[in-house]
Amino acid sequence: MADKRDYYEVLGVARDASKGVIGSAYRKLAIKYHPDSNPDDDEAVEKFKEAAEAYEVLSDDEKRARYDQYGHAGLGGGGGPQFSSVEDIFEAFGGIFGGGGGIFDSLFGGGGSRRQERSRRGADIRCNVLLDLEEAAAGCTKTVEIARNELCESCDGSGAAPGAVRESCVRCGGRGQVVQSAGILRVQTTCPACQGSGSTVANPCTDCDGEGLVPKKAEIKVNIPAGVDDGTRVRISGQGEASPQGGVAGDCYCFIGVRKHKVFERHDDHLVVRIPLTYAQFVLGAEVEVPTLDGMESVFIPAGTQSGEIFRVRGAGVPNVHTARKGDLLVETKVEIPTKVSAEQETLLRQLVELEETEVAPERKSWLESIKDFFSGVEEVEE
Ligand SMILES: [Zn+2]
Ligand SMILES: [Zn+2]
Repeated sequence: MADKRDYYEVLGVARDASKGVIGSAYRKLAIKYHPDSNPDDDEAVEKFKEAAEAYEVLSDDEKRARYDQYGHAGLGGGGGPQFSSVEDIFEAFGGIFGGGGGIFDSLFGGGGSRRQERSRRGADIRCNVLLDLEEAAAGCTKTVEIARNELCESCDGSGAAPGAVRESCVRCGGRGQVVQSAGILRVQTTCPACQGSGSTVANPCTDCDGEGLVPKKAEIKVNIPAGVDDGTRVRISGQGEASPQGGVAGDCYCFIGVRKHKVFERHDDHLVVRIPLTYAQFVLGAEVEVPTLDGMESVFIPAGTQSGEIFRVRGAGVPNVHTARKGDLLVETKVEIPTKVSAEQETLLRQLVELEETEVAPERKSWLESIKDFFSGVEEVEE
């Protein structure tokens, strides 16, 4: 490394070359001397390193200024960056061409573009939808208002002011990640200078402060499949936040809530309905009408049914959200005790009691009769 060549000479560019010119000159050399195309060629490896070193300095405004003024001596002891291996160069510049030049994506391997994709995907968002049981069982389409970041229209998501362009981030070399050392620990973190995007803009768009995204309210249609239950999550692909610089949008996760129903109680795919029957219906049997989600249905209660017995109407429940197989309607019976009966009903019941020889309370007297008894002393305790 005795005689270091002039960096401008290495890249074959003029001393006042723009960053774009420097970048494309380096790209050409990197392709030409790439180790994959020059196997076992030590000279090519040296040229490849030399070009990377020149690019490292000339693409950095501060380093370039020092180099212009002081030459190699201005860049510290080693006279500029030292790449000990080809892998180091890939580490430093691997992501720099990501997304742009197709040939470099393949040359520098999938690693760079994979990192880019991760940092570029838009964020996922969530929304909530509250349904009636009928809607949850049958499925429905709901329009939901959501708040999310969308692409800034002024800069088309680039974050750059009109006329300005994004430049590869100097801090992380365009990879979006930096390695930080703390003692023996080396931790890879999101680049603080570019927030992982791999590029920065000197003249940011004023409408989005250079973010490329602006908060917006949007209405989206959610297709809710039949059979969803309270707590089901429905994913709406691509309806999350936009990604600046052309990445994939995130997803929207719609969380389903189902209101309590006045008549039905849901147990997985089954519905439970409680119907009150009279003592006589239990004893003698009955044909009763019970509600289902599709209207009334007739259910036969056989004679001698016990209170609490459950009857099943097959397929009158809720469809399973995955298999579409319908659950059952479970009809739970319970005795309804009348709090008031007519004089005739009371007479008949007392006849029944006599036959059954059971103990019951004496006949109820009217209030006036009770008062009369009280004053005439009939109610006095016997001696
Ligand atoms: Zn903007
Ligand atoms: Zn960065």
